[in-house]
Amino acid sequence: MTSSQSTAPEEYDVIVIGAGPTGENVADRTAAAGLRTVIVESELVGGECSYWACMPSKALLRPVAALADARAVAGSREAVGGGVLDPAAVLARRDSFTSHWQDDGQVQWLRDTGIDLVRGHGRLAGERQVTVEAEDGSERLLVARHAVAICTGSRPVLPQGVPGLAGARPWTNREATGSPTVPRRLAVVGGGVVGVELATAWRALGSEVTLLVRGSGLLPRMEPFAGELVADGLRAAGVDVRFGTEVASLERRAAGADDGPREVTLVLGDGGRLTADEVLYATGRAPRTADVGLEQVGLHPGGWLDVDDSCTVLGVDGGWLYAAGDVNHRALLTHQGKYQARITGAAIVAHAEGRSLDTTRWGAHAASADSAGAPQVVFTTPEVAAVGLTLDAAERAGLRVKAIDHDLGAVAGASLYGDDYEGRARAVFDLDREVLVGVTFVGPGVSELLHSATVAVVGEVPIDRLWHAVPAYPTISEVWLRLLEGCRG
Ligand SMILES: Cc1cc2nc3c(=O)[nH]c(=O)nc-3n(C[C@H](O)[C@H](O)[C@H](O)COP(=O)(O)OP(=O)(O)OC[C@H]3O[C@@H](n4cnc5c(N)ncnc54)[C@H](O)[C@@H]3O)c2cc1C
Repeated sequence: MTSSQSTAPEEYDVIVIGAGPTGENVADRTAAAGLRTVIVESELVGGECSYWACMPSKALLRPVAALADARAVAGSREAVGGGVLDPAAVLARRDSFTSHWQDDGQVQWLRDTGIDLVRGHGRLAGERQVTVEAEDGSERLLVARHAVAICTGSRPVLPQGVPGLAGARPWTNREATGSPTVPRRLAVVGGGVVGVELATAWRALGSEVTLLVRGSGLLPRMEPFAGELVADGLRAAGVDVRFGTEVASLERRAAGADDGPREVTLVLGDGGRLTADEVLYATGRAPRTADVGLEQVGLHPGGWLDVDDSCTVLGVDGGWLYAAGDVNHRALLTHQGKYQARITGAAIVAHAEGRSLDTTRWGAHAASADSAGAPQVVFTTPEVAAVGLTLDAAERAGLRVKAIDHDLGAVAGASLYGDDYEGRARAVFDLDREVLVGVTFVGPGVSELLHSATVAVVGEVPIDRLWHAVPAYPTISEVWLRLLEGCRG
């Protein structure tokens, strides 16, 4: 590789490495405050979220939920009959949500917002210095007067030491959200959010899906009933869900004697074999920090970046280096990354203006919600919507708590939403502070209920005041009455 470096360093107030949702929002905040800001991006402006994660996966999943909703109600059920999704139309809509993997729209937004874009691979080169290596090998040196923010996100992790894995050319989230065709048989390895969502999507598009899970349940970080109801939903949709299963080795070879499609055979831990056309590994994420120059500032490359509540990187003097979004491992979700970006941006601006930071809990420069009130929706059928602590996590944190469960199907709004509606809700109450610390809803259409719970948890609204927050009749939200009655007695 030939390398040439422009001589004059280019000076900015703020340099952001990585133009995913987090980086874009850090840059937006600092530029809005009048700081001269540049963002460095090696692939597409918009990041994993826009092209290979949230947007395409939700574009694949929305028709699944829409059809399930129509089927759940007498009258509309007859209208859709036994119809199935039209894969070509679903994939075309997915393609439009990813802007056909072109980032012109987001580049224009940067321009309109007054943020400079430098395309290439960014690396720290020392204190407040970043080099950017362009595709042609040329290098530029950027220097920040105030701050550098690392927002380089995460990448999929494949298990080590599984014979044949590389040769099997497994799908990661990129192929599984971007495939132009529907595989006839798809094996999905991993029972976390990515695994269950993409198993749901491809099953609905016509694949025969087998979901292989090492543990004994799905969605291990959520309330146990969430994983159980999602497993029921997957099985009802025709997914073969197998627990306690590991893949020992894989082999990809021609399906027949001819030169036809090559299928992949998975040898399972118990000696069983499974043949598929594609295998998706949804087995976790690792930080994209191996090659961002961390060694230049005394940090170890490759790991998650440890930060304080204002997203300042620990172990680097001077408070000029920040890390927000997936890369700091606080909460691997777009909305939490964007929240950290708002906090990071505010901290950078306060420092630049010589103001001190308010890093007290829920202060303007503390991303307190990451641990106390991060919401998450799993867009399966049924949906899962959760915020705050599970019962188990609250107990492990030493809180004196009471959990109230309620059958969502018994709520009038839910039975109107769908015939034979099945779902469940749990609220976890902190008995000492008399506030909610966690809520989980599972059922069709519950994702839009979640923000009410987030407001209650983050606002630490006293239970006695929540009692006066009257849900409209007849909505699924009336479950709040039952949960609060359960707590107040
Ligand atoms: C299949 C799937 C579905 C998901 N669905 C959801 C969802 O519905 N809701 C949700 O909240 N979250 C979802 N997530 C998680 C979400 O995608 C991430 O939390 C989010 O993308 C993190 O944003 P980020 O900006 O931190 O990183 P990213 O989106 O990964 O962006 C990082 C950017 O940095 C760039 N970059 C990396 N290194 C360098 C470098 N050295 N120089 C220059 N540029 C660099 C990358 O090219 C990338 O553009 C999903 C994840 C997956 C895998």
